[in-house]
Amino acid sequence: MTVGIVVVSHSRALADAAVALAGEMLRDGGGPVEVAAGLDDGSFGTDAVAIGDAVTRADQGDGVVVLMDLGSAVLSAELALELLDDDVRDGVVLCPAPLVEGLIVAAVSAAGGAPSAEVAAEAADALQAKAIHLVPGEPDRDQPDQTVDDGDGPEQRGVFTVRMAHGLHARPAAQLVQALRGLDAEVRLRNLTLDGPDVSGASLSKVATLGALQGHDVAVRARGPEAGEAIRRVLDLADDDFGEAAAVSPPRPPATPATTGEPIPASPGVGVGPVRVERAVAVDVPPARPGTPAEQRARLDEARARVRDDLQTVRDRAAREIGEAEAAIFDAQLLLLEDPDVLADVGARIDAAVDAARAWADALDEVGSRLAAAADEYMRARVRDVRDVRDRVLRDLGGLEQHDAAGDGILVADDLTPADAAALDPARTPAVVLAGSSPTAHAAILLRARGVPAVVAAGPALVARAREAAVLAVDGTTGEVVTDPDPPTLSDFRARAEALTRRRENALRRAHEPAVTRDGTTVLVGTNVGGAGDAEAAVGADLAGLVRTEFCFLDRHRAPDVDEQEAAYRAIAEAMGGRRVTLRTLDVGGDKPLDYLPMPREANPFLGVRGLRLALARPDLLADQLHAFVRVAHDHPVDVMFPMVTTVDELVAARRALDDAVVTVGRGRPAGLRVGIMVEVPAAALKAPAFAPMVDFFSIGTNDLTQYALAAERGNDAVAPLSDGLDPAVLALIAATAGGAGRADHDVLVAVCGELAGDEDAAALLIGLGVRELSVAPTAVATVKEAVRAVDLTQARALAAAARECPDAHAVRELLR
Ligand code: PEP
Ligand code: MG
Repeated sequence: MTVGIVVVSHSRALADAAVALAGEMLRDGGGPVEVAAGLDDGSFGTDAVAIGDAVTRADQGDGVVVLMDLGSAVLSAELALELLDDDVRDGVVLCPAPLVEGLIVAAVSAAGGAPSAEVAAEAADALQAKAIHLVPGEPDRDQPDQTVDDGDGPEQRGVFTVRMAHGLHARPAAQLVQALRGLDAEVRLRNLTLDGPDVSGASLSKVATLGALQGHDVAVRARGPEAGEAIRRVLDLADDDFGEAAAVSPPRPPATPATTGEPIPASPGVGVGPVRVERAVAVDVPPARPGTPAEQRARLDEARARVRDDLQTVRDRAAREIGEAEAAIFDAQLLLLEDPDVLADVGARIDAAVDAARAWADALDEVGSRLAAAADEYMRARVRDVRDVRDRVLRDLGGLEQHDAAGDGILVADDLTPADAAALDPARTPAVVLAGSSPTAHAAILLRARGVPAVVAAGPALVARAREAAVLAVDGTTGEVVTDPDPPTLSDFRARAEALTRRRENALRRAHEPAVTRDGTTVLVGTNVGGAGDAEAAVGADLAGLVRTEFCFLDRHRAPDVDEQEAAYRAIAEAMGGRRVTLRTLDVGGDKPLDYLPMPREANPFLGVRGLRLALARPDLLADQLHAFVRVAHDHPVDVMFPMVTTVDELVAARRALDDAVVTVGRGRPAGLRVGIMVEVPAAALKAPAFAPMVDFFSIGTNDLTQYALAAERGNDAVAPLSDGLDPAVLALIAATAGGAGRADHDVLVAVCGELAGDEDAAALLIGLGVRELSVAPTAVATVKEAVRAVDLTQARALAAAARECPDAHAVRELLR
């Protein structure tokens, strides 16, 4: 593959020098680079015919990437395209990259044999390294890091990394805009990772479209008397994950079923009842009312003020009844009403003789379209919120009632606004069925928070049938919606609902009792924690079966020292009040990079230097961590657990490091210090007999074990349907682990700490496979204990044997039902 490059510049000297510079980077000369620069008489300028000729010379059949300098160079290049033959033109990419940096990157990339699209994409990213260097990635959060004076007054700068699972979506974006309000500073933000455009920090509609997803770096620049304060506020918010700590590692929203077009379970629970139809009242733009621009503005301002009061009331009620975090959803809507960019756009339309309602509708539609085009599903789900604000103002301007989703029965609607979801009375709404929406839409978040069972994306056909029905039966856990159920179905759903309520109540009442199967086998039910808060929330947990210590490392710009680590682990141990704490050594790499531990780029990070591999490559980090573990282990019952173990040699090296830490601490081996490994790599499961003599326990990380067994990257939605921990291949690996444990000459406990452990339906199966400890999310402890109590070991073993014979996860799930 030989992609040609054409350099278009106003200056021949500039183009030649840039080409020479790029040539310096290439040992073997690289592919063809042609120049179309300056005019024939030696003056500055660009010429479409010369560009067309250069493209033809550069084209060797694999395409041409054209790099341009400023202004009319782009127009000339576009014109040149029109002059070319179709077959040549089809292979030409006009690349928006900066000329010098872009050319160097493009030349190197083309010399490496990359296709033209990749050459152009690499070139377009060429400024990133410079931007990251000049806007350093490690701002000191206490004092704005950089002050640059380029003649326009001093500029303060900072960078933060978005850590929230849903990225810088509407709620955190609203917080950011609010935090900057009233400051005498002009703040601009830019998504460095996407090399996106600068946007104003005063505009929610712009900040929300930065497209800043989890892991993206965002640069902040501020000018003005309070620039320093502005940077500090933004970085403080980022440090605090914009108040969304829980969302940093969230429970995933209910999974989208593999078959598209099927209803999606969005809020668990069962509801049976009469149908309450909520028809979406399409808000037409009210007819234009005459008036001067000043009168139009005044009318709009009054409407916005009334809508603001309404929304504020809904917000306050949501805060009281549901919680502050959920109520913050409405902050984004309130901010949109005041968004300076949106108001400037509306103002400009009004000045161009458009009436207030039309100007408002068009401006908000534009915000909605920008969000609808976002790559991220979560951002796209925000379109509904924008639409709601648009419609509320239009209803007010048109003198229409604001409609409310109050009433009795199962609510069937096309979609639901956040305000409507917050206003629903759970006691009067057994369930909600929506034709559209998604599990991550704010309405769905609110329904989950309010405990209203819900099924979304049910599609127009099902919703039309539901609207005609008298009674509906809805299961928000499975996504089932049955119209006019016959008596047996009805009693089946009623029984499910009653069983669910009873199960929840019983579970909580008995959470502190041990989980013992019907035949007397005790199964420990522990909790997975990232910090002391989780430990406190885990009512009834027998132990902390997994402490993800990397949470003490991820949000830092330098490694915590031994004392800091000791304090963090000690706090967790104290919160567990004498119950055993399983401290896992640093599990970073893969999808969890460390700011202060730059790693070479890996094509497949999940198959690269992660978990114990990374710890062994950085013995200093591992030594500090084990040192802190040992200190805590002298005062609390501690298990040390190594993640991502693949070979026995790795375990030998890790154990040696632990022995060294015991010597360093100098108080002898702590009594009760136990050692185990996570079984996450299929190789470790299959070699369990080799590991067993060296460990006290195996803890199976089904999240990773599943991704490796099925070659389906966790977090990649496109392969999510494949990635099912109930696949018989994963079950075989669990069985192999338990088999290996059984062959040791001492007790080796087999635990599961991946998400599968929290699946109540899977409890019998796991126990049947030989698992004797389940470590689950704090809120799942009580119900999983209850599921264990229902198990009979003999039956569980038979179930496990049958499941292993199944062809796929679907069949296993059917078996469990
Ligand atoms: C697992 O892989 O199942 C596990 C518990 O570890 P983590 O999710 O932290 O990778
Ligand atoms: Mg893992």
